[in-house]
Amino acid sequence: MTGAGPGPTDAEWAAAVEAVRGLPADARVLLICHVNPDGDALGSMLGFGLGLRRLGVRRLQATFPGPPDVPEPFRWLPGVELLVAQDDAYPDPDLVICFDAAGDSRLGDLVDRLGRAGTSLVLDHHASNTGFGRINLVDPHAAATSVVALGLLDRLGVPLDAEMATGLYVALTTDTGSFRFEATTPAVHEMAARLLATGIRPGDISRRIFDTRPFGAVRLFGEVLGRATLEPAAAAGHGLVWTYATHDDLARHDQPAYVLEALIDSVRCTAEADVSCVVKQSGDAEWAVSLRSKGAVDVSRVAVALGGGGHRFAAGFTGRGPLDEVVGNIRAALGAEVLTPHS
Ligand code: AMP
Ligand code: MN
Ligand code: MN
Repeated sequence: MTGAGPGPTDAEWAAAVEAVRGLPADARVLLICHVNPDGDALGSMLGFGLGLRRLGVRRLQATFPGPPDVPEPFRWLPGVELLVAQDDAYPDPDLVICFDAAGDSRLGDLVDRLGRAGTSLVLDHHASNTGFGRINLVDPHAAATSVVALGLLDRLGVPLDAEMATGLYVALTTDTGSFRFEATTPAVHEMAARLLATGIRPGDISRRIFDTRPFGAVRLFGEVLGRATLEPAAAAGHGLVWTYATHDDLARHDQPAYVLEALIDSVRCTAEADVSCVVKQSGDAEWAVSLRSKGAVDVSRVAVALGGGGHRFAAGFTGRGPLDEVVGNIRAALGAEVLTPHS
């Protein structure tokens, strides 16, 4: 499952270039990304979308599944003007391009566009990608989907500018944890250098995306971190630290759900646990679960076993049922994963 494949073949790159270059002048192009879009999903999609604009694609929309609210930290991104609500998105575009989704289950109600589009192109970097597009550019070695997006923009001959670079940089910094994670290869820094050379300001971007949150969220984090639980014996002794946040918690501090996305970073620094987990209420008995690992445990395998996906060090799934049951399932899957030899 996580045996990362080789990345797109020359034929796949050529097919993707042809899918874009061969579009008639009045073609409708729809860009989509995964539900609860993060910096990679939105940044790759909008950065690429601005590239398509430069190529002369006029009928162009971008959207994501669910309510059309763009999380506050992303509202300033160049290209947000391309966004429409999912219900307003072309029902049968000539081309649909999907960003940062490992499978069509991450597309919510937008999954129908895949079947109704003239053709579909998937840009992604999850080893667990199911290959759900007509054309798939999936590079499991890419640190972010924006690496694949820039690869395609280069092959299309689109010159990079600061507006495009902003989204692509947000994507790259999001998925590398600001160049701290294992995925931070020389190629990542070379790409960052190209993006920075357009004149974008990394300090401003990082502050807006990673280092700004409402005071209410600071208080909310205090409460939720205060009830974090450490289970040193979990994951066959590698240790688990976890916490949870409910709709009630959000309401009490008058905060939108997106603020919880940053919570995992405060939990995963726990020295005594290899695996960290945040369980975020997403419905009556539904939870969005984030999993992180320091390396002893492959959390993508745990997430896949529980119906989700992701990467070795960062993965997630949707849990259903009471909180205790969801956490119990994680404990059990962690035990099983650690005891199962990798194929
Ligand atoms: P998150 O914890 O939401 O930041 O997600 C970490 C990683 O897990 C990302 O690569 C996501 O694409 C993936 N992921 C999170 N939730 C799911 C899910 N329900 N299904 C598949 N993959 C997921
Ligand atoms: Mn993502
Ligand atoms: Mn990504």
